[in-house]
Amino acid sequence: MPHSAFPHYDVIVIGAGHAGAEAATAAARMGAKTALFTLKKENIGEMSCNPAIGGIGKGTIVREVDALDGVMGRVIDRAGIQFKILNRKKGPAVQGPRAQADRALYRAAMQDVILHYPNLDVHYGVVDDLIIDHQQIVGIRLSDGIEIKTATVVLTTGTFLDGLIHIGDVKIPAGRVGEQPSLGLSQSLKRCQFVMGRLKTGTPPRLDGRTIDWSGLDVQHGDNPPEPFSYLTTAINVPQIPCYITRTTEITHQIIRDNLHRSAMYAGHIKGVGPRYCPSIEDKIVRFADKTSHQIFLEPEGLNDDTIYPNGVSTSLPEEVQFDYIRSIPGLENVVMIRPGYAIEYDYVDPRELKPTLQTKKVAGLFLAGQINGTTGYEEAAGQGVVAGINAALVAHGEDGEFIIDRADGYIGVMIDDLITKGTSEPYRMFTSRSEYRLSLRADNADRRLTEKGILIGCVGEERRLAYAKKLKALQEAHQQLSSLHISPSEATKRGVYINPDGTKRTALTLLGYPNIGLEGVVTLWPEVAQINKSMIEQLTTEAVYASYLDRQKADIKAFRHDEALAIPDDIDYNEIRSLSNEMREKLKFNKPTTIGAASRIPGVTPAAVISILVYLRHVASRKMAA
Ligand code: FAD
Repeated sequence: MPHSAFPHYDVIVIGAGHAGAEAATAAARMGAKTALFTLKKENIGEMSCNPAIGGIGKGTIVREVDALDGVMGRVIDRAGIQFKILNRKKGPAVQGPRAQADRALYRAAMQDVILHYPNLDVHYGVVDDLIIDHQQIVGIRLSDGIEIKTATVVLTTGTFLDGLIHIGDVKIPAGRVGEQPSLGLSQSLKRCQFVMGRLKTGTPPRLDGRTIDWSGLDVQHGDNPPEPFSYLTTAINVPQIPCYITRTTEITHQIIRDNLHRSAMYAGHIKGVGPRYCPSIEDKIVRFADKTSHQIFLEPEGLNDDTIYPNGVSTSLPEEVQFDYIRSIPGLENVVMIRPGYAIEYDYVDPRELKPTLQTKKVAGLFLAGQINGTTGYEEAAGQGVVAGINAALVAHGEDGEFIIDRADGYIGVMIDDLITKGTSEPYRMFTSRSEYRLSLRADNADRRLTEKGILIGCVGEERRLAYAKKLKALQEAHQQLSSLHISPSEATKRGVYINPDGTKRTALTLLGYPNIGLEGVVTLWPEVAQINKSMIEQLTTEAVYASYLDRQKADIKAFRHDEALAIPDDIDYNEIRSLSNEMREKLKFNKPTTIGAASRIPGVTPAAVISILVYLRHVASRKMAA
């Protein structure tokens, strides 16, 4: 073995994509001696596909990462060229912040953060193998044979594991365009006998904006002023620019239909399953055959970059067919295609191989985060990265505690729980409908759900701790002030604000939640309320509007947490529970749920089986007491 000049690390993170960046910085914030290994510097913060962060559900995850002092929110605030709160007109539970990014600015800002992060060493090279001793990770091996010792590893290699690009019938082994796939690590995981599968995703061709006729296209502006992602950002200083919208035509659809047999997907070259909710253009034309047109957002990739990302037309058709159909779209009649779109197939690990901390069940000290676990999206990757990084640091330090975000804490918890209990047969993407507590899991309150938890575990730095304490104090003062202002219906009506004349006095806080009164009515009654900070008022208004639903949700969360507190020991022997059928036993043995709650969410595990486990655990406990 070549001599290693590397120290012994607490945590080694492999891959500097979106999961890797969060895992490495989280471990470093936790005080672990951390190293980040990636192929080259330019890969740090690379956006493999669309230059945008956030969206509905996804944007809330970014806020949750930020609440734990992660980096994604602050980086997009330095790189966003169009910010928008999606679903602004709908309820707060389904609103989501999104920002179009300048790809180069995003990469530069992420590199600036990562390369200057305290306690974090960054190394470039191909990691080829994991060194495992008696089912315990002890190190990694680089492609030149150098071995580096570590207590834990977080593997975040995205689409690189045995990656294979498809453009029509052309196949190119790659992790993404122009980059070598990761073959060695794929073999390492197979050797560990992890259950693995193949998934696929795709990207559209890139266009030269100078050759687009923008004149007849619909323009879409962002919010003014733009609302930052991070709780620590006070203002967005990047210039803001618009996007444009065009649509496919009947001719586009005809060209695609005529060439379907040449698409890698339809010709049967691809075995991996693609993201149902982010279909390729050929998929859309087959699945929604009655639609004569599909919307395409023409998104600039940067302020000083003429590249345009046509959002909505990802494809695995041959290059010449892509060229033909693109030119059948209004505004794109003379467009120059900079590079073709493509589909990519890659290996993923069945996430049921993981514990809620994202540590693998088979290899102690090995954590997996990001696309490798069957998810798709930068935000989903980042959310897993922060959890894996924190837990890897805890394990490396020999701490007993675990950092688990549960389904009631945040979307990150919903995602991890879905993955580890149900697995996934297609790329998993976050939606608000995946959460049963979405009224409580809003983008506006991620810090109130998670920052305290982060402070307690030690992953939140001083700057955020102070900012959070200040915000909480201001929020409490605003709450107190609004609760102390009372008025009777008759007095309110006299002052121009009608309230149902039932003789009951109401507080300003309650009246904020009445749709016909709201902030305007409250300020009419108490002009001093106008002085309260706008974001405090917005949060208190949301909570006042949904007060009764939120109370009900609190009761549901209490019941959920009760079941989550009933732990199932690691060494439970399901063979001893006679009343379980073989099918139940197999599911439980494979999934190894850590709590009664988690057992009850495994698809196919019946309520009767859950009760059998409970009865058995009680029996074991009483046997132990008696002994
Ligand atoms: P990545 O961002 O892929 O990062 C992986 C990192 O691992 C890279 O830094 C790489 O250099 C490093 N690495 C790999 N192998 C090694 C090794 N052996 N040694 C050292 N370092 C290594 N998401 C969407 O939400 N919507 C989409 O439409 C979409 N389309 C996509 C299209 C394509 C073609 C691709 C490639 C991805 C697409 N994605 C899409 C997915 C999105 O890019 C990923 O979900 C996200 O980047 C995953 O983050 P990650 O951190 O898991 O992995």
